[in-house]
Amino acid sequence: MQNITILGSTGSIGMSTLDVLARHPERYSVYALTAHSRVEQLAEQCLKFKPQVAVVGSADAALRLSRLLQEAPQIEVLHGAEALCQVASAPACDAVMAAIVGAAGLASTLAAAKAGKKVLLANKEALVMSGQLFIDAVKQSGAVLLPIDSEHNAIFQCLPHNYDRSPAALGVEKILLTASGGPFLTRPLDTMDAVTPAQAIAHPKWVMGRKISVDSATMMNKGLEVIEAHWLFGAAASQIEVVIHPQSVIHSMVSYIDGSVLAQLGNPDMRTPIAHALAYPERIASGVGALDLTVIGQLQFSRPDLQRFPCLKLAYDALLAGGSAATILNAANEVAVQAFLDEKIGFGMIAQLIARTMDSLPLCAVTDIEMLLEQDRLARQTVNALIS
Ligand code: NAD
Ligand code: MG
Repeated sequence: MQNITILGSTGSIGMSTLDVLARHPERYSVYALTAHSRVEQLAEQCLKFKPQVAVVGSADAALRLSRLLQEAPQIEVLHGAEALCQVASAPACDAVMAAIVGAAGLASTLAAAKAGKKVLLANKEALVMSGQLFIDAVKQSGAVLLPIDSEHNAIFQCLPHNYDRSPAALGVEKILLTASGGPFLTRPLDTMDAVTPAQAIAHPKWVMGRKISVDSATMMNKGLEVIEAHWLFGAAASQIEVVIHPQSVIHSMVSYIDGSVLAQLGNPDMRTPIAHALAYPERIASGVGALDLTVIGQLQFSRPDLQRFPCLKLAYDALLAGGSAATILNAANEVAVQAFLDEKIGFGMIAQLIARTMDSLPLCAVTDIEMLLEQDRLARQTVNALIS
């Protein structure tokens, strides 16, 4: 029996994780569930899954949750950032699904890594912003890091079992990261300024949280994934190639020096990578239907247009620049995306604001978490000043 903490259980990934867990009550129990503000939804989840601990964002939310959980007084209700780290690193917890969105998930995801947990990583921003520090924490504690992002989970499945962040050692030539291209793959470029938040979050293939949906529309999501792939698999920027594949059936590929290309395919449903990582190295049912290629008929591929998707280029630039660049990129993007969702800026401004923030902050080496958080803070301050 494995005892699981889900950080961000009320989100898209959190809910899909609970869906998979509910199919295997003999294998998994829930240690802790956490949510930021959706107290009613968290209460329902708690009554169904009976965690030992539930964590919310504020004292007020904790009070409301306790009232809703009167019939389950054994569930301990906590609140705040420290409590997130506590449930991510508690001795009673075996595995942590890191599914908080954005930098808000860094401390708790890192706490799980430092505590040597099995870390199921959905929160790509945490890895993008902390890079080597995160990988070092995993190595030092002996944590097992398993990717949930569908592309990275696919790559993990296509790599040899004894792969250890060194492509050349096992004949890996390239990582081919597939991308659907999002909702604006073919939209006329001169109409991009008129894009509304509702249009940007209407992804053609995946149903996801709002932030990652906007990131998919700008393709910053793929940019963050390039950086994520660099840290997870030890591949250089030149070894990570983005391929547009609108059907989202091939979730990514690995190309070997002998000319072989291995791919992982499946219906676009996050329960597949979630089930894979939960049960690894075994396999369990996820609730996802079998792939019928004869229904899909055609698989298409093309190269990304960097003029249409400047955010993808900004992410490659940040990876090549190293040091604090990815931290700044990630922070500027989070602020710009929120401003777009709040209708304070147009869609095209997202990339411009990130570029200007990156240009105006000097790069530095990031050797500890305090420096990292300071770079994150400076970038947010800079992009906020540019917006107002
Ligand atoms: P979401 O917006 O649906 O859910 C986010 C979760 O984080 C919620 O439970 C929310 O309560 C919690 N949260 C938000 N702000 C918080 C804060 N300040 N403190 C504590 N908790 C907070 O997001 P999602 O789509 O589930 O994505 C979660 C993560 O997984 C993101 O990093 C995303 O990039 C990654 N991811 C998502 C998908 C997907 O299909 N949804 C696929 C790949 C990767
Ligand atoms: Mg992805």
